[in-house]
Amino acid sequence: MAISATATEAKPVKTKISTFDEVNIFFDKAAERLDLDNGVRELLRQPWRELEVSLPVRMDDGKIRVFRGYRVQHNGARGPFKGGIRYHPDADKNEVRALASLMTWKSGLIDIPFGGAKGGVQCDPRTMSEGELNRLTRRYTLGIEPIIGVNEDIPAPDLGTNAQTMAWIMDAYSQTHGYSPGIVTGKPVELGGSVGRDAAPGRGTVYVMIEAARDLGIPLEGARVAVQGFGQVGSWAARLLHEQGSKIVALTDIGGGVYNPNGIDVRLALLHQLDTGTVAGLPDTDKISSKEMMALELEYLVPAAVERVIHEGNAPNIKAKVVVEAANHPTTPEADQILMDKGITVLPDILVNAGGVVVSELEWTQNLYQHQWELSRVNEELLKKMKGAYARVREVVELKGVSYREAAFLVGVGRVASVVKLRGFI
Ligand code: NAD
Repeated sequence: MAISATATEAKPVKTKISTFDEVNIFFDKAAERLDLDNGVRELLRQPWRELEVSLPVRMDDGKIRVFRGYRVQHNGARGPFKGGIRYHPDADKNEVRALASLMTWKSGLIDIPFGGAKGGVQCDPRTMSEGELNRLTRRYTLGIEPIIGVNEDIPAPDLGTNAQTMAWIMDAYSQTHGYSPGIVTGKPVELGGSVGRDAAPGRGTVYVMIEAARDLGIPLEGARVAVQGFGQVGSWAARLLHEQGSKIVALTDIGGGVYNPNGIDVRLALLHQLDTGTVAGLPDTDKISSKEMMALELEYLVPAAVERVIHEGNAPNIKAKVVVEAANHPTTPEADQILMDKGITVLPDILVNAGGVVVSELEWTQNLYQHQWELSRVNEELLKKMKGAYARVREVVELKGVSYREAAFLVGVGRVASVVKLRGFI
């Protein structure tokens, strides 16, 4: 197949309703099936608390720029609020709300004692210096400091942030609260981070794929896989799938995309990205656009970048047998229906990428006890959690004849709803 491409970046589609409303379409379906009363539905749908902050930062050129930052605490019925912080030009209140609510259902589904939250700062980290990012992060920490805490709300990395960002947050918070490694997860290991946290969302993705491959009869060995997004989640998923014997035929990041029908050497792609900042231009590959990648003949398509990249416009072209949602909310509800009608299995985000929050919980536990676990113990716990959640979802798929997404939401929403009742909120 000849691949020619000009525009390589996947553009999240603009839809008539907000990302938050889209996630609530999935929530409402589950609430209906669970027969929750209207009051409980409203309580579960709406965020408990939202904070919007103004963040003045002195840039390297001496000028002051003011950024907008958000922290949304969606639901804390099952434990402290938990969720990542995103640095992205499109981060806005509705996106952060949507991601916070997904965290609530994810923590419920994976059955860890956390609620759901998310943070975001509207900025483009790729155009900012390390000093600017450090100053922005400290301002943001100061802004949300009144509502976060080791037992209240524990941020983590997400799109555009990393272990370094978490180290700055921890330092800023510790200046007024004393040494507090448990205030964030996804920190550098030297500062109380957990070994295995960086790989966890990608590793968890592959653990779910191993289970699903068996049930769906689509072996990972020899499978043609395309991965969109080659950051923390996508690069680990690609690396571990490569180890499973899958053929990574296409990879994209914000700088471009590459294609080789015989399989891309993921280690070389990582080295190339380290050198050049992108996978684009990797030797022995052709250029491929996101649009072309979506339409490839594949066993597994793994979106691992941004939301709403699978939409009404491109879902009809998808030929993959399975879509594995390593990113959060990569599929709009309309596209979800189209994929279902085409008989394509969608493994949903709240199950697939839950490995991040699983190991975040392990990191937080290690911090509370000032312990450092070995990698084998962390990965063992991760495997147990991912297998357990997958098995429960699969059971509901079979019992109720619903999709994997519907089953995952039924389990996640059901667990949060039952705790809300037990705590006597209503
Ligand atoms: P990251 O910033 O480390 O990497 C993002 C990757 O996507 C980069 O390679 C970037 O170039 C690429 N990208 C960004 N915009 C793109 C576009 N429009 N088209 C193509 N590629 C694009 O982020 P991450 O932490 O890997 O997060 C990726 C997704 O996984 C997000 O949806 C995030 O919410 C989700 N997630 C992250 C974690 C975590 O712990 N980091 C956990 C669970 C879920």
